[in-house]
Amino acid sequence: MSKVKYYYDSETLSYRKIERKKRKTFKYILLFLSASALFGFFFVFIASQYFESPKEKALNRELQNLKLNFELLNKKFDEAEAVLSSVEDRDNNIYRHYFEANPIPEEQRKAGFGGVNRYKEYQGYDNSKLIIESNKRIDKLQKRIVVQSKSLDEIAILAAEKEKLLAAIPAIQPVRNEDLTRMASGYGMRTDPFTKARKMHWGMDFTAPRGTPVYAAGDGVVKRADASASGYGKHIRIDHGFGYMSLYAHLYKYNVRKNQKIKRGDLIGFVGSTGRSEAPHLHYEVFKDEQRINPINFYYGSLTAEEFNTLLEHASLENQSLD
Ligand SMILES: [Zn+2]
Repeated sequence: MSKVKYYYDSETLSYRKIERKKRKTFKYILLFLSASALFGFFFVFIASQYFESPKEKALNRELQNLKLNFELLNKKFDEAEAVLSSVEDRDNNIYRHYFEANPIPEEQRKAGFGGVNRYKEYQGYDNSKLIIESNKRIDKLQKRIVVQSKSLDEIAILAAEKEKLLAAIPAIQPVRNEDLTRMASGYGMRTDPFTKARKMHWGMDFTAPRGTPVYAAGDGVVKRADASASGYGKHIRIDHGFGYMSLYAHLYKYNVRKNQKIKRGDLIGFVGSTGRSEAPHLHYEVFKDEQRINPINFYYGSLTAEEFNTLLEHASLENQSLD
């Protein structure tokens, strides 16, 4: 029961009841609640500056854990980068060098990404720098792997080409020559057997009896097998590709036709003395880009070092060619 308060009214000379208005009471309550809420809010706010809630503690632990993991990831990037660097180094200095491809410049291998800011979405946080740097590293790493992978693709193609080239170039002697006495005259200035004048002998002469087999010096396609070139008599020309061609002259008989595909060592014809020839022999020429070159430089495939030296001696004797 609430106390009833009175006051003395001097006009009416009587005691009157003090009547508190209900609205006023409500106002007081509202004021009290607002003040408590404000106080509570400040208290919590100030407390939160100095004390962590259990949830915050858990979040902080997780944040620390993430940071640690980023650091570990960056160490792994170090390792991956080191391995890739070593592969790139070998690629430039061994593989690409061996297959005569230009090394890929450092700037091209390690180029970043220009233009628009790819890392915009990571900006504006405490850990932005860490996240952006890590992303940059992984992006660069990915790009380097793509460049390296493309380089290896290129090398695989070059290796296949090199294999074809090695099979194509005229690298064996066209006549079986175990004792190496059959070469009568080499490439260079020789005495012409008909005019006795000194002139350039553009091939190698191998003496052999009529009918001795003649072999293709490398893989290729028969471009000619006819007697319509002056001087050569019945002769064969093989196109080996890569700018190489070999020519076999003064044949007795053909064993191939024009446009026939052949392999190194295939029997293509037989020694004779047709055309401008003094005695049965094979006149053999090698062309590179339509220029005649010394065939002796190509026999490395089938000879030992000693055999090659003996052949070299025979080839350099300044004797008379058989043409
Ligand atoms: Zn000759």
